Amino acid sequence: MDTLFLHVCCGPCAAYPLERLLAESGRKLELWFYNPNIHPQSEFARRRDSFAFLAAVHGLQADFSAPYEPAVFLAEFAQRPSPPERCRRCYALRLGRAAEEAAARGRRAFATTLAFSRRQKHELLIEEGLKAAAAHGLDFYYEDWRPGWRRGHEIARGLGLYRQNYCGCVYSELER
Ligand code: SF4
Repeated sequence: MDTLFLHVCCGPCAAYPLERLLAESGRKLELWFYNPNIHPQSEFARRRDSFAFLAAVHGLQADFSAPYEPAVFLAEFAQRPSPPERCRRCYALRLGRAAEEAAARGRRAFATTLAFSRRQKHELLIEEGLKAAAAHGLDFYYEDWRPGWRRGHEIARGLGLYRQNYCGCVYSELER
């Protein structure tokens, strides 16, 4: 089975997808954290550290080498402060970079833990995932992990993972 390149948005969203994917025999994963949308930097660090703990619990190595880059997000979104267009561009940015990174590493497919969240706009997520995949000659692996919402939060609670109460960007922080 090919290694699946998995873009991770945070620990709580990764908990259930990891449980599912790791239950598949022979499944190998490459975990990559890239979220320039998260505001402020202290929040970025909390989400990153929470996911690092989850990865360690599974004995997995995760890649945190991508820079934080809030300026990239803010430059992109200053003129688009409202959803759904704002979220579409947010997915395009993160999934575009994920696809680029996956292709550079010779992977054939990539996925995102955003597909766990009931708060994300899945139709837009799929559209942008497919576009990013096509641009880099990859497959976008989409599995609707929302049915595992309760289980994911149970895992996160059990491990004491930090659970945020807003999506991530400065706009979503203000909209709480
Ligand atoms: S609300 Fe969430 S998905 Fe939408 S732009 Fe903000 S961080 Fe991105």
